[in-house]
Formats: sequence, C-alpha cells, structure tokens
Amino acid sequence: LDTRISISSDQNELKDLAGAINGMLDRINEAYRSQIRFVSDASHELRTPIAVIQGYANLLDRWGKNDEEALQESIEAIKSEADNMKDLVEQLLFLARGDNDSMQLSMEEINLSELVAEIMRETVMIDPNHEFKSKTDSNVYTIGDIQLIKQAIRIFIDNSVKYTPYDGAISVTTSRDGDYAKVVVQDTGIGIPPQDIPHVFDRFFRADDSRARKTGGTGLGLSIAKWIIDRHRGTVEILSRKDIGTRIIISLPVIAPPSAWSKLQTGK
Ligand code: ADP
Repeated sequence: LDTRISISSDQNELKDLAGAINGMLDRINEAYRSQIRFVSDASHELRTPIAVIQGYANLLDRWGKNDEEALQESIEAIKSEADNMKDLVEQLLFLARGDNDSMQLSMEEINLSELVAEIMRETVMIDPNHEFKSKTDSNVYTIGDIQLIKQAIRIFIDNSVKYTPYDGAISVTTSRDGDYAKVVVQDTGIGIPPQDIPHVFDRFFRADDSRARKTGGTGLGLSIAKWIIDRHRGTVEILSRKDIGTRIIISLPVIAPPSAWSKLQTGK
C-alpha cells in the first residue's frame, strides 16, 4: 500500500510527475485507511447493541416464563436496542451512499423560513421539557434537496434537545445575511469542551461528557449533517462553551424569493 515512486533523474518534468503521482498515492492511501477505520468503527458500534440483545434474550430464556419483571425489562431493553441498531444502520447506509456518490439529490427552491417553522412545530409537539424560541425572517429561500436539508437542520436541533438539561432553552433563527441564508440553532446546554470542537464532525466522535450522560447517540449525526450542508455548498460553524451552551450557524446560498422572479421577468 505505501508504495511511492522514486525517480533518479535530473529532468525536472520527471521529478514533477513523480511528485504529483506520489501526492495522488498519498491521498488514495488516506482514503483507504479512513474506509478501513470506518468499517472497523461501525462493526465495533454494532457489537454493543447485539451483545445487549443477546444478554436479554438469555435472561428471557431462563426466567422469562416465570418472572413477569424480567419479562417486561427484557422486552423493553430488546426493543430499545433494536431501535438503536436500526438508527445506526440507517446512518451507516446514508454515509456509505454519500461516500460512493450514489445519492441522487432532487433540487428545488426551498422556503427555508417555512421549512424551519415546520420543523419547530414538530419538535415542540414532541418535547415538553425545553423552552423553544424561534425568530424567522419571512421568505428566506435557498435551493436544495428539501428532505436532506430538513434532515440536517433536525440533527442540529435534536442535538440541542439531547444535550440541554430540562428547563433549558433552545432558540432557532432564520435570516438572510448577504449571499447566505442563515439558520442559527442555539442552546443553553452542556456545551462542547474547546479541545473537542474540531472533532465533532468526525464519524463516531462523541465528547466524553455526552458518552457519560448516556444520551444514546451514535456519533454519526453531525458528520451526516455536515455532508448534507457541504453538498449544498453551505458551511457550518460551531461556537460553544462548556456548561454555557452551543451555537450552530448554518449558511446556505440564498436565492431570491419567487415574488422577486416575476418582477424580474416583467421588469416592474
Ligand atoms: P451523537 O449521536 O453523539 O449526538 P453527533 O455526531 O450528532 O453524535 O454529535 C457528536 C458529538 O458532538 C456529540 O456526542 C456531543 O458530544 C457533541 N455535540 C453535538 N451537538 C451538541 C450540542 N448542541 N451541545 C453539546 N454537545 C454537542
């Protein structure tokens, strides 16, 4: 694998060519190593729920028929671990399809203000434990795959929900800022230690605090969200302070709202 080309020649063209090929080989090697790492991390992560399911299946086998409590506990645990596994496998499939470029994006104009309002309505309905605030400029439009953009924004909001203690606040604002449509998700949660911020988009990365709190994450959410935003030529910025909170700034290329299109055509 670690093959390199060495050319003993005084010709500069040949030396440049060897340099370019070696650069390419380095990139191929890095991609290959990261794929191996990905497969081995994925297998490791799948092992845990499988082991838990096996453990409870054994418990059921031994005591399930006579012990009502063991029966209930085992059924709940198996269901919850199976759910975790399903989420994990879906996320892995998403990233695998993303890696080999086989994902078709269906691009359309998106009213980001409406989309964020819809996500907020859904979130508020299922989460009575946090205070939600939302401020939206009307008619902020971008272009993209609406399902994917929705998925990405959901991931950021779900993280704020997961990593903010009950009674904390989560605010989401949508605005237009020059050439960009901005969605800012801010929470008053546990925050991310400064040394961890550069790693949160890495696959399977979870800060120690989050692991300790057993929030049931996979460490894949942010890498999926970042992949989606990158594919839409957007950016994600994270500002966070431990025990104070986290602010996520998502920027997507803005387009003019449809009302402006007819004005452009008619010249009025
Ligand atoms: P997970 O499934 O663990 O939530 P993510 O990829 O979505 O995985 O996030 C990676 C890590 O980044 C999390 O485990 C957590 O440590 C940290 N993180 C993400 N969002 C927040 C947030 N809003 N507040 C605090 N920590 C966060």
